[in-house]
Amino acid sequence: MSQYPHLLEPLDLGFTTLKNRVIMGSMHTGLEDRPWHFKQLAEYFAERARGGVALMVTGGFAPNRRGELLPLGSRLSNALQIPMHKKVTSAVHEAGGKIALQILHAGRYGYTPYNVAPSAIKSPITPFKPKALTTKAVYKTIRQYGKTASLAKKAGYDGVEIMGSEGYFITQFLNARTNQRDDEFGGSYENRMRLPLEIVREVRKQAGDDFIIIFRLSMLDLVEGASDMEEVLILAKELEKAGVTILNTGIGWHEARVPTIVTSVPRAAFVDATAKVKAAVNIPVIASNRINMPDTAEEVIASGKADMVSMARPFLADSEWVNKAAEGRADEINTCIACNQACLDHTFEAKRASCLVNPRACHETELLYTPTHAPKKVAVVGSGPAGLAAATVAAKRGHKVTIFEGRDTIGGQFLFASKIPGKEEFVETIRYFTKMIEIHNIDLKLNTWVNADELKDAGFDEIIVSTGVEPRIPNMPGIDHEKVVTYQELLGKGLELGQKVAVMGAGGIGFDVSEYLTHQGPSLTLNKELWFKEWGVDINNTTSGGLKPMEIEPSPRKVYMLQRKTSSLGKGLNKTSGWVHRAAVKMKGVEMIAGVSYDKIDDAGLHITISNKDGDVIEQRVLDVDHVVLCAGQISVNQLYKDLQGNHDHNFGLHLVGGAEFAGELDAKRAIKLASELAASL
Ligand code: NAP
Ligand code: SF4
Repeated sequence: MSQYPHLLEPLDLGFTTLKNRVIMGSMHTGLEDRPWHFKQLAEYFAERARGGVALMVTGGFAPNRRGELLPLGSRLSNALQIPMHKKVTSAVHEAGGKIALQILHAGRYGYTPYNVAPSAIKSPITPFKPKALTTKAVYKTIRQYGKTASLAKKAGYDGVEIMGSEGYFITQFLNARTNQRDDEFGGSYENRMRLPLEIVREVRKQAGDDFIIIFRLSMLDLVEGASDMEEVLILAKELEKAGVTILNTGIGWHEARVPTIVTSVPRAAFVDATAKVKAAVNIPVIASNRINMPDTAEEVIASGKADMVSMARPFLADSEWVNKAAEGRADEINTCIACNQACLDHTFEAKRASCLVNPRACHETELLYTPTHAPKKVAVVGSGPAGLAAATVAAKRGHKVTIFEGRDTIGGQFLFASKIPGKEEFVETIRYFTKMIEIHNIDLKLNTWVNADELKDAGFDEIIVSTGVEPRIPNMPGIDHEKVVTYQELLGKGLELGQKVAVMGAGGIGFDVSEYLTHQGPSLTLNKELWFKEWGVDINNTTSGGLKPMEIEPSPRKVYMLQRKTSSLGKGLNKTSGWVHRAAVKMKGVEMIAGVSYDKIDDAGLHITISNKDGDVIEQRVLDVDHVVLCAGQISVNQLYKDLQGNHDHNFGLHLVGGAEFAGELDAKRAIKLASELAASL
């Protein structure tokens, strides 16, 4: 008997059967935009089909030029494009999977000067004001959706997903805030929902009966003046009548003030909105957002709140997710930690997506972990993300690996990250590596500091030094004062700090520490009701858009966050998650001060001078804080490497990876990628 009987149960759609309840949701990888990338795209999907997922949805393809997300971005509107899509569909079918093409018209979210929308209202997150479509052009667009679906069918796709959420074109028609038309597509709700219904009818007409039509329905818009649940349910029932096979869940517009997918969002947070739709229709309904492990997915389906679950990023992190769950190996799943750093951040920077915890994602034809014919004796010194990635890839390939770790536990900087409220997912990565160490028979030596001579004498063929970083200690008067602690001391020892604290440095760690210091009690990420309260979410969507006033739990202390640069704090944080960190510290009243020079620390507190962009001194202040937390970057710990390098008569390969190599860009994405590439080449 499987641990996940509901998740693994087939779903009969009448004309076809899905082998389980897991869909890989749409995720733009950057491989969709150019024909010469379709071979890689095909292997990316084939690998996931082999991993057991029932149905996959491609990244978005526009039905016409004006619907493109980016100039010359992915579009399916011409029969000449069929052969390249056939590469994808054949590879998936050969691997035993099914695949649907997502039809995405960006509307006013199109990053193009030629974008169109129901009305000429610019979005707050894109630079180009759209042109309002004429009524004739709306009908033409509907026909083009149908044509894209028929081309998809000819190309071998098992179905299409019509993107009707996240604030794109269809959602723009549905809501009065973006639809001020006075023709049959504007005004009353009946008129505003005419577009999606006509699109579904046209798609069904042109693609025929035996074809899956998924409609991604916005169940909670999370913007002012948008649909309430009553309207969502009316639309859901009408979509069913119009010919939709499956309804998928969309949550939040891209311009919403509420985070919907980052790591601090509770797992399966929005499933109760999906449950309401499921109760109102007779077709299968898919739950989505922050479902990343089989127990959560099983619970969603077993509770009757949804028929299927959709996950996109978890399949970047681990292509074998379903097989591992089915074979009782859930503890081997490389869990998506919802960091967005290598997937969505890349997409928004027009770079190829990948995955922080799995650099092979979208590089399946390039980064190969081929079994070795000449096993070597490999030493890895340090067990942060870089060391763990190097060790596990090398061991997986058949090398005999020993990890030396000075502390009593593995994880390095990920251990500190996991202490931050909202970053609990980092524990999963440590759990994954712990399991990999076990199944690949890696010899883990904890509490073991090795020196160059010991390593040399042990006869290793390859030595990988991943000794990480230590906090930078700025050189300034009073830095030895008892008020001063490093972020590692604070998080590692769980120190209790006073009522007033200054955080020196406003990089990723300065923000993390500020969130840690302004929070008390259990993490809201582990309690969705409290999380809804703090972010002002009405999950019942009785108010239009599902928003209500935020009820923010006050910070237990006064926190100042400081940086020397005069730019605004947090500007350099990651593209798709930085705004959440900036909002989180702002709502807790953290006082952010830029243009600071640090004068001294004494019993009175932290003495600073504040200057403007031109370097003119504006003010001198004494922050009467009880503690100063140093988050001023890191320096590499690499003495061992230098000692080994100085050993001229060595006959082993010597490598330096992770923060020990380059602390200036201490970055787990880079560390894991380079370490994995190195281990793949040994
Ligand atoms: P960081 O991003 O490089 O930030 C270091 C901070 O220290 C900056 O605010 C810098 O600003 C300040 N600083 C640098 N030298 C200083 C000095 N001598 N004296 C005083 N202040 C100094 O480094 P981090 O915060 O340690 O983060 C390391 C890496 O971890 C990041 O690159 C990121 O990739 C990753 N990370 C990301 C996140 C996230 O995105 N949420 C969270 C945690 C970690 P000024 O020079 O202007 O003072
Ligand atoms: Fe998940 Fe981060 Fe990987 Fe994206 S980069 S798939 S969010 S772990």
